[in-house]
Formats: sequence, structure tokens, C-alpha cells
Amino acid sequence: MIYLDYASTTPIRKEILDAYQKVLRVYYGNADSLHQIGRESQKLMEKSRAQIAQLFSVSASEIFFTSCASESNSWAIKGFALANMYRGKHIITTCVEHSSVLHACDQLEKHFGFEVTYLPITKEGIVNIETLKQAFRKDTILVSVMAVNNETGALNPIEECAKMIHEQTRAVFHVDAVQAVGKINIPYEQIDMVTVSAHKIYGCKGSAILYKKDNLSLLPLINGGQQESGIRGGTSNAPVNIVFAKTLRLALEEQGNTYAHVKQLNDTLRQAFREMDDVTINSPNDALPHILNVSFLHVGSEIMLNALNERGICVSAQSTCSSHKKAHSYVLSAMGLGDVISTHAIRISLSYLTTMEEIQALIKACKEINHDYGTK
Ligand code: PLP
Repeated sequence: MIYLDYASTTPIRKEILDAYQKVLRVYYGNADSLHQIGRESQKLMEKSRAQIAQLFSVSASEIFFTSCASESNSWAIKGFALANMYRGKHIITTCVEHSSVLHACDQLEKHFGFEVTYLPITKEGIVNIETLKQAFRKDTILVSVMAVNNETGALNPIEECAKMIHEQTRAVFHVDAVQAVGKINIPYEQIDMVTVSAHKIYGCKGSAILYKKDNLSLLPLINGGQQESGIRGGTSNAPVNIVFAKTLRLALEEQGNTYAHVKQLNDTLRQAFREMDDVTINSPNDALPHILNVSFLHVGSEIMLNALNERGICVSAQSTCSSHKKAHSYVLSAMGLGDVISTHAIRISLSYLTTMEEIQALIKACKEINHDYGTK
């Protein structure tokens, strides 16, 4: 099979799997136990936390281990909003965030009396700073904007957003950096909360972090014991937390070496799609090269996905979290691309592991399918 769905999840890196297996075998103690075996797990987990903090140039007390990026996003938004609602009940986000952000906001509106502004995006799929500025109210306490869109690879102007929010407002800025880490630089120190997931960067599934500045208070969503500074209960998943630091370090080290390779693959694909009839490229020209969204105007998303699958090629019809709903991309609709494009889109996502031969095989398959359906 040819795997081109790396934005959905990545295979675990051999070095991480080896380390994880060893940790599972040897350091199986509960990190909260007071005996020797528990203390060893705790020590390694805290070492990992300190290394992550160092990689982000922040302090270890600002790194929290969670079970997935959806949890980190939910916690950042609901945890912050509920702990700070005495300051105001207005939140700003964008209409194309990951479902974990959108549903957290929706819950706050429906059950806790918050008001949420869902910013529109430009036709390039990003936030406009002026539109963001105009959305602020006296009672705005939180802004959440993703760094890279998971369906199109569109890159938001995170530094500009952070600068404007911090210079002109009292709101806190959260960034979902799940699709950005290991691919582009993130100005962690300029952001108040950041979500990162391990399984998107060749690490373990069920493993993520939330970076949160020390001075911010979050209501716990999972009540429990003293774990994670007493604000995220549950026995620590020490093995995945321990290997998170290595996962992140390798992803960051590789960033510079592999970007050019992925860009070349992306350029080859774009060129081929431009030459095909009735195909639109939906990702903006300056998107992250790891994600390419295209629509075959005569082939619905699911049909295309299945036809490629039959030829041994794995892609997504849109974001995987929405894959069981009818294939209509809310992201492409928000870009103003209309019904045909947003129901006929597929997401191809690339990796440093992807080869030019795989890309050529994809191009060949797409041409055949496009031809077959185009003439039907
Ligand atoms: N945020 C973005 C932008 C994503 O692409 C995803 C996963 O696809 C998530 C959050 C959720 O990640 P997780 O699977 O770790 O919950």
C-alpha cells in the first residue's frame, strides 16, 4: 500500500517504538507511587517534561501531558473559559478549526452562556488580522486559532495574531499547533497555550501535551489526584509521556532536512494536477507542502477515496475526524469554494518517508480515475 494520509496519523518511528517498548517493560511503575519502581517512572517522566520545555524555551511547570490533542484543545478552551468567566464570556475562534475546538466552543455556548465569534476566513483559508481585531469586545477572554489547517495546509499568521492580541487586548491566545510542529517554527514564547500531538510526529497514539503559561488558571476537566500539578487527574501514562521528549526532539531536528524533499513532491503533484482536466487545487499556493487538497469535479470525495484505495493508495476525503459524516468539507465551503468542490475533495498528505515513485503512482492512478469518471 502507498500511505499518503500522514496528516491523519503517522507510523511510529523505530527509535521511539524501541524506547517505548523498553520503558513499558522496565519502568512500569505508577509514577505516583512512593516506592523505587514508581519513583523511577516519575523521574523519567519529569526528565521528559523538562526536555520538552527546553525544546520550546519555556519552563517545565508549563508543560502538561494529556491523552490526545482533542483533550488538550478541549482543556485549553473549556478549562480556561470556565476558570475565567468572571472576567468575561466572549471567545473568538475561526470557523475552520478542528472539531475538538469547535465542539468545545459550542458546549460553552449551549450550556454555560458564553458567546463565541467564529471568524470567517479568506479565500486562501486563513484569518485576516483586521477581521480578528474587529471581533474583539470588552468581555473577550480567549482567542483560539490553529497554526496550520488540517484539510488544506493553509498557514495562519500566528506571530501577527499573537502580537496584535497581546499589544491591544487582555485576551489569552491559544494555538492548535498539531499540524505545524516538526514542519514550521512556532513562536511558543509569544503564545499563551499550545496544543501538540505525538501521533502526528511519528510518536505514540494517545499522547499529547498542552503548553500553558504559568500565570494562567485552568479548571480541571478530569478530576482526580495530584497528577499534572493537580489539574489533570488519572494515573499518568508514563511510557508515552517519557518518550514524548524524544519524539519531539527528532521531529524538530528533522524539520530542516526534510522540508525541501516534501516541497518537491508537492510541486510535482501540483504540476500534474494543473495539467489534468476538471481538477482544482484547493490548498493555497503558499500552504504547508505536507498537505495538498484537490477536487476532481466528476468524482465525489468518497468515490475517489475508494477508487484510490482499490489501487492501493490511502488518502483522506477530508479531515479524518469527519470521515464518517457525509463528505462535505466545511473548510472548503468557508473558503467560498462552493458545493461541487467541497463535496469532491480529497486530502493528500505527505511525509519525509514519501518517495517520488509513490507520487508518480498516485498521479497515474488519479489520471486513470479522472479519465474513467470524466467520460461516464
Ligand atoms: N487538531 C488538529 C489540527 C488535527 O489535525 C487533529 C487531528 O487530526 C487534532 C487536533 C486532534 O488530534 P488527536 O487525534 O491527537 O486528538
